[in-house]
Amino acid sequence: MIQNKIISWYLKNKRTLPWRNTQNPYFIWLSEIILQQTRVAQGLPYYEKFTEKYPTVFDLANAGEEEVLRLWQGLGYYSRGRNLHATARYIAYECAGRFPDSFSGLVRLKGIGNYTAAAIASFAFREKVPAIDGNVVRVITRLYNIDKPVDTPATLQEIGQISLGLISTVEPDLYNQAMMEFGAILCTPKNPKCDICPVQTECLSFPQKDLLRIPYKSKKTRVLERTLHYLVFKHRGSFFMKQRTGSDIWQNLFDFPEAEPGEIPGLLQSLNAGSVHTSPPITHILSHRKLTIFFTRCTLQDKSIPLQGAWFTPEEAEKLPKPKVIVDFFSQMARTYTDKK
Ligand code: SF4
Repeated sequence: MIQNKIISWYLKNKRTLPWRNTQNPYFIWLSEIILQQTRVAQGLPYYEKFTEKYPTVFDLANAGEEEVLRLWQGLGYYSRGRNLHATARYIAYECAGRFPDSFSGLVRLKGIGNYTAAAIASFAFREKVPAIDGNVVRVITRLYNIDKPVDTPATLQEIGQISLGLISTVEPDLYNQAMMEFGAILCTPKNPKCDICPVQTECLSFPQKDLLRIPYKSKKTRVLERTLHYLVFKHRGSFFMKQRTGSDIWQNLFDFPEAEPGEIPGLLQSLNAGSVHTSPPITHILSHRKLTIFFTRCTLQDKSIPLQGAWFTPEEAEKLPKPKVIVDFFSQMARTYTDKK
């Protein structure tokens, strides 16, 4: 049977990862949230940091949101960090620290969709529910040569039905782990290792010349372009920063005030700004956005600014949760400063 061959392959080839040695739903939930849209190599140090700093769901719930976002810094998709904290508070304070023990209970929690609920339900509670992430979609569509767009409800339902027929009743956790690992390591998007694949003879796509075409989507995700003009005010070594409140990008993180290009000269003049320098444009890619960012740096003699925000020393700014572009800006500045010295 296909699934038994994939499980045998998994038992021989699986990577050793810390969240695979536990049935504690808190650790499994943490790992699954950290790994959403994130490669294992990038997520692993974050998992280690979070489990060390917050060994229980109560520790995470009792931390401040800024502290949690600061620890999350660099992982991107910051709504995951905010949802993680909100769900920890809910589990700690409303559920006495106990996670729901079923898919239907887990999927109601903030930040948990069908895949994550299925993963936690099967890994922690051995519920027979297939966890279908992008890796599993790829494996199933190739194995069964499903030549249809995978972003339609009908195809997803078909994949779900096939998965239900394959998943083991006794060890659903092992089946789910094996399928995901198989997709991540062997049946990869660009270079599937078909020559050493244990289910090559059963794979209906293998004889097709263009098997890499599968899976595919019906629509392309539209990328929005946006330009940010940051004003970096410096006064006696301190920086003026604001917390983002809108729900567009980087909610609750700290960055610099922004202005429209036409407003900048008048604003700088009214503030009597000295040594003004604007950086070349920096491109920063988010999931569905392409940002072009300019930093206009200047020094101010006076601390009073008619803008929302506050002054922070570099040490204070270091402790704030910030988007990666702002972290990079500070390290670039520190490097330039050190080089000049
Ligand atoms: Fe994937 Fe190739 Fe194996 Fe088919 S034969 S399941 S495409 S690795």
